[in-house]
Amino acid sequence: MPEATSPISPPARVTVIGLGNMGRPMAACIARGGYAVTGFDLSQDARARFEADGGRTAPDMAQAVADAAVVITLLPNGKIVRAAVEQMRPHLRPDAVIVDMSSSDPLGTRKLGEELAAAGFAFLDAPVSGGVKKAAEGTLAIMVGGDAAAIDRVAPVLQTMGKSIFRTGPLGSGHAVKALNNYVSAAGLVAAIEALHVGKAFGIDPNVIVDVLNASTGRNNSTENKLKQFVISESYASGFALDLMAKDIRTADDLAAAIGVPVPLADKTAELWDKAAAALGPGADHTAIDRFLRSR
Ligand code: NAD
Repeated sequence: MPEATSPISPPARVTVIGLGNMGRPMAACIARGGYAVTGFDLSQDARARFEADGGRTAPDMAQAVADAAVVITLLPNGKIVRAAVEQMRPHLRPDAVIVDMSSSDPLGTRKLGEELAAAGFAFLDAPVSGGVKKAAEGTLAIMVGGDAAAIDRVAPVLQTMGKSIFRTGPLGSGHAVKALNNYVSAAGLVAAIEALHVGKAFGIDPNVIVDVLNASTGRNNSTENKLKQFVISESYASGFALDLMAKDIRTADDLAAAIGVPVPLADKTAELWDKAAAALGPGADHTAIDRFLRSR
């Protein structure tokens, strides 16, 4: 068996827990990198979709993690990650590295990491940005927090999924940066949609508004990649759920409150997205914030 300090290279086994919009394509990237991949999801549908793409699944958590050198979680939030980690713990290899690539709460991540470190397990946070498209291409931005030696061990696995890999600092820092990124992204999306609504009511073609924004200083990721594609088309099918976005903004806002930094715009943004999540319900895409804003 290789030393627990050397990089984890193919064909080592990597287990992915959570085979949803992000987990499924990310697991496929790891497999293309030459690793032996096992997937697990509570949902039988998600497991069946993964198998239909040629993936190998395990019937339960114990069998999913038993021979894994790396266990990656891609689950809705940090509470669910904690529950999954507690469930897998008795079955993990002692040298396994657990990498939470979900967008989880940074303070919860630190606490879980302390508990795992006391039991001798390596734990990293490595959330991602770029959505389903970049997940499928293996070109995600990955922000990794935690022990440098553990990051060195899993770096070859992360490189199968990401183009830009940032070392953000101690455990929890990746999750903090991710939540802050999504706050900035969500605020930019709302600003762009509000501009569309005002411009349209003033009689301007929405497509022209987007073209002007994209050639001007108002340009952002939403004006380039969301307005025409998912908002003006009313397809609302970006593959990123509104309730997950609301969670991320709330995480950023709660973090600011916990460390005493005033963030008036984040407070308003979190409140707005929480209301949209309650009004539109589970299953709504985050670009459907357009419908919520129009209904007010
Ligand atoms: P998703 O809802 O599509 O997938 C989550 C999967 O986890 C589901 O298949 C669900 O059945 C499974 N699951 C839930 N609880 C489980 C458990 N206890 N054990 C095993 N499986 C369980 O969500 P997603 O869009 O893939 O997002 C996953 C994470 O990545 C979230 O934290 C999200 O915020 C983050 N994220 C999503 C995107 C995106 O564009 N979709 C982008 C960046 C980050």
